[in-house]
Amino acid sequence: MLKLKQYITSKEAFTKCLDMIGKSDMNSKLRDKTRETTKKQMNVFTVVKQLRNESMDDKPAFKLTREESAELGGASTGIVVNVEGNLIANADLAFAEVTTAEAPVAHILLEGEAEDRICPHTLLRMPAPVPCSLGSGLTFANEKARAEAEKTYHRYEWKVSQALKEIGLTEVGRLALRLVTSMAPAGLEKVSESGESALGRAFSLLEIKPVSNDEAVLSAAVAACLVRALRVSGYCSGQGENLSGSEHAAAKALYAAVTIALRHAMSITILDPSQLAKPMDVFKRETFPARTFAIGIFPAASKLRTCAKAGQSDDEPDAFVFFHGGKLISLMNKGARKGQALKLVSAVDPDESKEEVEVINEMITFRCSNEKCEVGFPLRENTKEKVITCPMGDCAKETNVWLKLKRIQELKKLRREQVAKNIEKEDWTEVVENLRYLVAEWEKIVCRPYKEFANLEKELRFALILQFLKKESDWAAARI
Ligand SMILES: [Zn+2]
Repeated sequence: MLKLKQYITSKEAFTKCLDMIGKSDMNSKLRDKTRETTKKQMNVFTVVKQLRNESMDDKPAFKLTREESAELGGASTGIVVNVEGNLIANADLAFAEVTTAEAPVAHILLEGEAEDRICPHTLLRMPAPVPCSLGSGLTFANEKARAEAEKTYHRYEWKVSQALKEIGLTEVGRLALRLVTSMAPAGLEKVSESGESALGRAFSLLEIKPVSNDEAVLSAAVAACLVRALRVSGYCSGQGENLSGSEHAAAKALYAAVTIALRHAMSITILDPSQLAKPMDVFKRETFPARTFAIGIFPAASKLRTCAKAGQSDDEPDAFVFFHGGKLISLMNKGARKGQALKLVSAVDPDESKEEVEVINEMITFRCSNEKCEVGFPLRENTKEKVITCPMGDCAKETNVWLKLKRIQELKKLRREQVAKNIEKEDWTEVVENLRYLVAEWEKIVCRPYKEFANLEKELRFALILQFLKKESDWAAARI
């Protein structure tokens, strides 16, 4: 244990050194060289790390980097929604920090997408499924998952699911039903006051404004149909034409649940790089290959998504979102300062992966070579300009544009060669390292937004996912 501690502190020290090299005033050649030596010295950690991994039996998982936030369950205390309703960093956030790891409050598998392979309760793959003990024909990942499902929603739903399917209940309707059946019938009356239940949590985080006429009609119609199903299923007790007291409460809850499901259902996907012929093909795509197999309600993520949109800046996204291991994860793809508005992007959803960055083509804004100066010089990429003197009186420093252009060419070459080599080797840790280095180098020369940042950071997001998937498959392979 002591050794492990020593290992961690010295590794941290070396990592810091590496970081400082990037920030130092060394010229680029010397910097690259120092970095190389430090890295060589760091090789010792790779060996120790293997020892360490063997002693740690936990399956790799994305876990919140900080404590869980009390108001935004599933999100870390590192992020917060401010009074203006924008998502901001609540502390200095680090690269690759996990800011959200949220399990859905309710979810359903999509028809024909995952049955028999993915557990309808845990959303994880089922190596050895166990059959439903009620007679529905469903299978679950293990006995614990089965018991949990059969104690709550499955106990009611299995009796009516076939009939609902036959009348054509849509997936959103099934999800709404699940939001209600996930909680005990006795809790229905107090649903909007208590954040304990699935629906209660959705209520407390998601603002449900008065619905449009179409939404109202649809929600009422689906609720009316489902409340009958709940009587048949034994969830509500009632007789005859009129709704009983408990059915009234259920109808109200269903109405809200349909509205929530209509607006906030999110796709649940499996990251699937096997769709590609070669791993490097990932980098040619706009989104990481993934397959949708379920939909679910993630109250915190839904809220954050709306708030991150409201606070959009010109910059590239700060964090990206994807589903893995039964949870919706958001990871920082660059560091952020406390108080900074954050922008999120989906790593897998083509509709939400668009970075709305306005980049003026063929223009490049060079930074003033004085590091403390904020001035940038917008020039054409093929500028013939050689040296620019900063117009700020107290700066007046000269910036050699020609040298900077030369450095850009070097970086482009480095990117092509080194990144391609490490992608070929499927060494994702190195790829992440390479891309981070390049982003940091570009940042010294050019102001955002610039297309190269968007490219590099998209690749960085994909490399982080690949790095994790590799770690996971290595872990599994070691246990066969
Ligand atoms: Zn200046």
